[in-house]
Amino acid sequence: MTGKVYLVGAGPGDPELLTLKAARILADADVVFYDALVSKEVLALVSRDAQLIDVGKRAGKKLLTQEEINSLLVNYATKNRIVVRLKGGDPLLFGRAGEEIEALRSARAEFEIVPGITAAVGAAAGAKISLTNRRVASQVLFTTFSRGETGNWVNWAAVTPETTIAIYMPGTHYGEVADRLVENGLSPETPCVVVSQATRAEQQVRWTSIAALGNEAQLPAPSILLVGRVATQSVAEWGARINGELLKSGETNCVRLDSGKKN
Ligand code: SAH
Repeated sequence: MTGKVYLVGAGPGDPELLTLKAARILADADVVFYDALVSKEVLALVSRDAQLIDVGKRAGKKLLTQEEINSLLVNYATKNRIVVRLKGGDPLLFGRAGEEIEALRSARAEFEIVPGITAAVGAAAGAKISLTNRRVASQVLFTTFSRGETGNWVNWAAVTPETTIAIYMPGTHYGEVADRLVENGLSPETPCVVVSQATRAEQQVRWTSIAALGNEAQLPAPSILLVGRVATQSVAEWGARINGELLKSGETNCVRLDSGKKN
């Protein structure tokens, strides 16, 4: 078998955030299987001669099952092709890469993984916050409460007030996420930022708190929630608050980064 499969991270949207390696492989590809989250600007970098195959979802229904994708990857690789499995963000986070890796390994196909910038990191950059902060946050948890993904796998014992939680696939009701967080012991006053379409021209950033999250209007998908003491424009103020100063809660505001205006 001389073909090769590349599992490539497309990043969160901005094509300039692709790795040089990803851009080179896209330009050399014979066939590209891509997900719904891959931006059209990134797809524009694929070789014109390549076959582009959409394996995302339409109206909530998968176009191909995971098993079908796995066998297509292997079949094309056996035909001496440069095969790209292009996934939004990083391929190794919430991207079912584990199953593809197993299939490729058991077929003894040659494959390589090209990392990408994951949504949480793109969103933190968009919101201009640091995911860790030596004053208020010492660990980061990448998670989802989406059914079918991790279910109840969140180890709540690991979630401390010093944890920044990046919640992928937050669903259509942020209120449900807020309830889960509070049920599991997070203070309702904990800051939270919703970043929609991170790193894209349409990016929106909404600063809020767990308590106010349920009342926030849903922002366009894809969106991600960053929860924790770093998820505020004024970490210094939070640092002071947790050192015993009076709490002022319930403030929310919405900033559209592309216009620079506050709503
Ligand atoms: N492998 C991807 C995640 C796939 S799960 C990664 O590493 O980013 C899909 C979820 O990722 C979406 O529901 C959303 O929560 C998040 N996501 C992906 N792209 C995003 C973007 N540009 N802005 C905000 N969230 C995004």
